[in-house]
Amino acid sequence: MVIATERRRFPVLDPADGSVIDSLESAGPDDAIAAVDAAAEAAEDWASRAPRERAEILRRAFELMTERNEDIARLIVREMGKPLAEARGEASYAAEFLRWFSEEAVRANGDFAVAPAGTNRMLVTHAPIGIALLITPWNFPAAMATRKIGPALAAGCTVVLKPAEETPLTALAIAGLLTEAGVPEGVVNVVCTDDPAPVAEAVLSDPRVRKLSFTGSTGVGRRLLELCAPQVISASMELGGNSPFLVLQDADIDVAVAGAMAAKMRNGGEACTAANRFLVHDSVAESFTSRLTAAMSAVRVGNGFDRTAQLGPLINAAARDKVERLVADAIERGARVRTGAQRIPGPGYFYAPTVLDRVQPGSQILSEEVFGPVAPIMTFSDEDEAIALANETEYGLVAFVFSRDLRRAMAIGEEIETGMVGLNRGVVSDPAAPFGGTKQSGIGREGGHHGLLEFLEPKYFAFD
Ligand code: ADP
Repeated sequence: MVIATERRRFPVLDPADGSVIDSLESAGPDDAIAAVDAAAEAAEDWASRAPRERAEILRRAFELMTERNEDIARLIVREMGKPLAEARGEASYAAEFLRWFSEEAVRANGDFAVAPAGTNRMLVTHAPIGIALLITPWNFPAAMATRKIGPALAAGCTVVLKPAEETPLTALAIAGLLTEAGVPEGVVNVVCTDDPAPVAEAVLSDPRVRKLSFTGSTGVGRRLLELCAPQVISASMELGGNSPFLVLQDADIDVAVAGAMAAKMRNGGEACTAANRFLVHDSVAESFTSRLTAAMSAVRVGNGFDRTAQLGPLINAAARDKVERLVADAIERGARVRTGAQRIPGPGYFYAPTVLDRVQPGSQILSEEVFGPVAPIMTFSDEDEAIALANETEYGLVAFVFSRDLRRAMAIGEEIETGMVGLNRGVVSDPAAPFGGTKQSGIGREGGHHGLLEFLEPKYFAFD
């Protein structure tokens, strides 16, 4: 018997003015277990569908999402705040994960070999790993959802998706679209809550759940890994970053500035891949810094629906407080403000595009993710020093290297402890590429073929 209770509701806010867009019932642990029940009920049927059938459903979802690009984009702007043009870009990037994994669904290939000693044959097959809990952040409300749902469904898993409390509406729209595309009931279950800890605890304590795929902060990631330990749940973790952006002596400065604008300002700096530390060779430092300052000062800030806006608000007051704290600390320790370094008065959580140079070692901004439109610049005189600085972090998600000599840039990229490297470009993300980090930036990869493997369990058969 279900006892109807009046559930608490939580508001979804527009970060451009703090107004309430909508409110949703906040799911608790019982609702989360009901979602696991639904995922369990749908699991066998979904896993036994022909890979081609799963592929075609995902392909239809890609097509629907492409048709609905504008609707999804508008929802993203409302609850997350990025400019409409960027939101359209995210909605197509998100759809591409569905297309990519519709193609990967038929490539869960195994292996066959003769044992090295010649004693027997070895056959390896792949099966869906089981029910997966997917926890996504607010910065890419659509793309983080499809980057996890795509491979999970392609692999034959059923899922419980827990979107960020700031951006649940986009996730719900995507779930609706998947149903329309033919995803059977119970395969994708969305649990919205503003109290995620008890929900995650309940789901990860359920022995039917075999996978966690999480994107978010390293602190929460560590806690979730602890929750995975008792039942030895497989965890894919996309955590924080502290990306170094290296400009070598021989870099093309125009290319480096364009790359810096992309690496810093994509998503308003609210990306784990955002360049967090600019390390520039002494000889080109002023030229790079003055051109970057000019480009940053020209960025138009405004409501994401304003046609001219290139930078929207930060997600909430706490995010802006953090940016302010990091900037104030850097200035106190001797950094110089080239532009910005102030909030923009009025409603919403706007912060001016900021360039700081002469950032001093020990400044908090060098060790914490700023997650906002702030570019802190340091200089170096030799490349070994630059590599050492780049590696001076517990994170290792992405690094950017700018040099006219691709071989030299590549050699430096090889020395940096990181999962991804952008060579003379400021964006690396692609659904076809393995996205992920080393060190405390995470475990596992999303996208590419690797993304599918995260949701598959190999099974090895030995026979004569
Ligand atoms: P951010 O700082 O970017 O908001 P978080 O790591 O706090 O990153 O959030 C990423 C996701 O993790 C969101 O869906 C959020 O609801 C969820 N989350 C936050 N805290 C917890 C927790 N204790 N247990 C489970 N999920 C959590």
